[in-house]
Amino acid sequence: MTPEQLAELITLRHELHKIPEVSGDEEKTARQIQSYLRQNSPDQLLTGLGGHGVAAIYNGQAEGQTVLIRCELDGLPIEEVSDHAYRSTHQGRGHLCGHDGHMVMVAALAKELAQQRPRQGRVVLLFQPAEETGKGAAAVIADPRFAEIAPDFAFSLHNLPGLEVGKIALCNGVANCASRGMRIKLTGKTSHAAAPQDGVSPATALSHLLTELPALGGGENLGPDFALVTLTHANLGEATFGIAPGEAEIWTTLRCVTDRRMEQLIAEATDLVQQCADAEGLGVQIEFDDIFEACTNHPEASAILAEAAANAGSPAEIQEQPQRWSEDFGQFGKQAKSAMFWLGSGEDQPQLHNPDYDFPDAAIPVGVAVFKEAIDVILNDDALRNSS
Ligand SMILES: [Zn+2]
Ligand SMILES: [Zn+2]
Repeated sequence: MTPEQLAELITLRHELHKIPEVSGDEEKTARQIQSYLRQNSPDQLLTGLGGHGVAAIYNGQAEGQTVLIRCELDGLPIEEVSDHAYRSTHQGRGHLCGHDGHMVMVAALAKELAQQRPRQGRVVLLFQPAEETGKGAAAVIADPRFAEIAPDFAFSLHNLPGLEVGKIALCNGVANCASRGMRIKLTGKTSHAAAPQDGVSPATALSHLLTELPALGGGENLGPDFALVTLTHANLGEATFGIAPGEAEIWTTLRCVTDRRMEQLIAEATDLVQQCADAEGLGVQIEFDDIFEACTNHPEASAILAEAAANAGSPAEIQEQPQRWSEDFGQFGKQAKSAMFWLGSGEDQPQLHNPDYDFPDAAIPVGVAVFKEAIDVILNDDALRNSS
């Protein structure tokens, strides 16, 4: 990548960084991406995919396989803390997961493909909405136009704080944990604070659940039995001194390495809630949200990424354990041979979703090179690969 090309991508990242939008709300971001893609003459440009999703399609010179490269459009509902000139201009919103960096790496591929189409098959550059809520990938796949895309392979990356900038890591098997939000509502009956015996308070059940739910999964040993239950929110009655409460709400996140263990954990948590509610004569309502299945790398797709990283001059370090966080990219694994890799964003880098996180621009050329090589491995023959 020439210094001029990198400078153009950095400018684009900073523009995107200034306008972070939360999941499902990525209108301005999608517009900016569409305008960049239009300048790079795709054969087809799909917009409004599964929400604000955008896909640019580049056809090869002959029939062949379809390779999808996916990045994410969304930012986070977190106020950015930084003094960069390009800091967020949207109050309470920040690109604090590095999706701005991911987008420009995929945008860079558009420029490459505009200059040189693949020898065979086609490349789909997908800018997916709503990754952070786990809803976007499924929405894109459910869009009737996705049936036409029907990828054979799907690749993605996530930047990884803690790994040296530009280094590549890869997981064989599960790459990201399954997780889901569990919203528990307990309903009793309010009464005068002077006569709590006349009501049904959820306070006792709540206090049990606050200790017993986390005890279902302490998060030890990131193997197939891994289970972690994290309380994220709780509420009891109203903020008043005159009323004994009649309602309580608890939110908790369940996390497992495998979807099978997740099924068990859901059953265990549901039983526990039901028992606590029954013991106090409370009504109970359970809802699940932010549902992520385990994201698993397909062996063939994973091997292609390893080859691509080696060809790009950044051989992948193989990691034995998955990341504890979740990714809805796993959804594409139901349609295609899919795999994702980690791109180091620095050993001293703040963690993802920290208010002072910022994607390191120095990692851009490495991510672009690995994607480019993966496309080459599948769609271009050796002669063409050597000439590029
Ligand atoms: Zn994130
Ligand atoms: Zn992310």
